[in-house]
Amino acid sequence: MATKALALMAATLAIAPAYSQTARVVDDNSLRNAAKNGSEWTTYGFTQGETRYSPLNQINASNVSRLGLAWSYEIGRGGGNQEATPLFFNGTIYSITNWSIVYAVDARTGKEKWHWDPEVNQDKTRPYICCGVVQRGIALYQNLVIAPIIDGRLVALDISTGHPVWESRISYSQDGYTVTMAPRIAKGKVIIGVAGSELPIRGFFDAYDARTGQRAWRFYTVPGDPSKPYENPALKKAAETWSGDFWKLGGGGSLWDSISYDPEADLIYVGTGNGGPWPEPLRHSKGKDNLYVASILAVKPDTGELKWYYQPVPGDSWDFDSVQQLLLADITIKGQPRKVLMQANKDGFYYVIDRVTGQFISGEPFVKVTWARGLDERTGRPFINPEAHYGDETIQIMPGPGGGHNWSPMSFNPATGLVYIPSSLSSSSVFAIDENYEWKPGRSNIGVRRGPPPKDGIGLAPPPAATLPPPPAIGPEVAAGSPTGALIAWDPATQKQSWQAPGGGSIGGGTVTTAGNLVIQVIPDGRLVAYSADKGEKLLDVKTGLAGGMGPPITYELDGKQYIAVAGGQGIVVGRNVEPGAPPPQAGPNTIFPKLMVFVLDGRPIGQ
Ligand code: CA
Repeated sequence: MATKALALMAATLAIAPAYSQTARVVDDNSLRNAAKNGSEWTTYGFTQGETRYSPLNQINASNVSRLGLAWSYEIGRGGGNQEATPLFFNGTIYSITNWSIVYAVDARTGKEKWHWDPEVNQDKTRPYICCGVVQRGIALYQNLVIAPIIDGRLVALDISTGHPVWESRISYSQDGYTVTMAPRIAKGKVIIGVAGSELPIRGFFDAYDARTGQRAWRFYTVPGDPSKPYENPALKKAAETWSGDFWKLGGGGSLWDSISYDPEADLIYVGTGNGGPWPEPLRHSKGKDNLYVASILAVKPDTGELKWYYQPVPGDSWDFDSVQQLLLADITIKGQPRKVLMQANKDGFYYVIDRVTGQFISGEPFVKVTWARGLDERTGRPFINPEAHYGDETIQIMPGPGGGHNWSPMSFNPATGLVYIPSSLSSSSVFAIDENYEWKPGRSNIGVRRGPPPKDGIGLAPPPAATLPPPPAIGPEVAAGSPTGALIAWDPATQKQSWQAPGGGSIGGGTVTTAGNLVIQVIPDGRLVAYSADKGEKLLDVKTGLAGGMGPPITYELDGKQYIAVAGGQGIVVGRNVEPGAPPPQAGPNTIFPKLMVFVLDGRPIGQ
């Protein structure tokens, strides 16, 4: 018997996992129940359904004005916005900053426990990064911190030491891919996708075994070379919605924001980015839908098999990445309880979809929209204004590529039934096909006419002036002189605005809502603002002193006290057009290096 026991023990040891089972860890069970655990914030979006609603109420509408600083931590040298949502587990804050540097901070002292620098080759990677040297988050699982690296690696670090445990390769930046989104854990797998649809890339997302880093499956979001076998039946179907040799151009459909997961439905949800190049005619696909660009996909976590899809923007020509937060909630619509997936899309529509079947429920403009005049009530297919399919002449379209809503996290409060959307009310851009367009490998291939590139290489070149009259508008009117950024409290059951407050916008900062009848909003200019969740009364408006590069807020409880944490500050930002090897710009008097700031009731005065 002893021999048998020993043999069994040896066999167990031989298949022992890479991570220990002894310490308290984030696992499938705790992730599934994250909504009930207000004291920690263990996953991107707070829950697998990205609700960003905390059941904590120590900080509430009656006392939030007493918020002060508990401590702050200097994150590092920066190089872009702090777009990551920090995580809080077991007394420690974990997050990721520019150039994919991962850090862990003791939440009792504010002292760094460890940080890990993947040493990205910045000069070689920078030219392939579309829109800033940013990361949106990490995942905690078992005793690992799982971090995407902007140059295409996926790394698992030991949660207590920050030492690498395994490393995998998602993509290579020289192929036009970067990785900026936060991973999602589902059934022991790490789900992650690639960004880059402004470059000629074929979008995809992957699942990796969280224990080993081995890739389990890949789902390409657009079809490839039709002379080769299709990777799966969904791509065979997708190929019918393209024409010509589109596949030589890449196609687009990248991922860079949301992945949510419903363990009950056994489905992972992702949103896909724009078609590439931007104008549909340049993709050799005029009048075709181009699946699965600008789409919401539901796939099986075990296999990556497509269960359903909904394409908000067939034949996208406007950079309407449909990657925004896919928020899962159970709400009552017309007296019926519905399991829904919701998205405030870049394209200006708020979509409500049955997340089990993929059935379209409703969609209404939450900001001003001119690309479409409405949606088919039954299918959700947009009625696209014909003039929005631009040609050689310039026309103004709303929203623009910044979107009515972008990556700034919204949040859903089940007590008020409202979702709080950081929005740009009157986003617009001017479009015309670039008559000098030439396909270039490894370079930006948007194919629309633009002005000269900005001298500092930061941001997109300005569009020319519009010559054609704009298409007719739908959606809420915007009073002349109104600020473009606003927080919209939206009722998803009735598809109507409940209240609105000026400030913020679709990019930068974000929200969290709580059982304390609060919405906490971080404004891109560095302010921390609080509203009552039900009525939108402003209860707090303070400057953090960070003045830019703001990330979304989180909240957690430690030793009986509720805290709110937010990162911000850019450090020194280097543009894309900088000569490789050129000396980096020096810090100026206005340079603000990134900080993590943690707030508590009756803390020290905040900011300057
Ligand atoms: Ca895009």
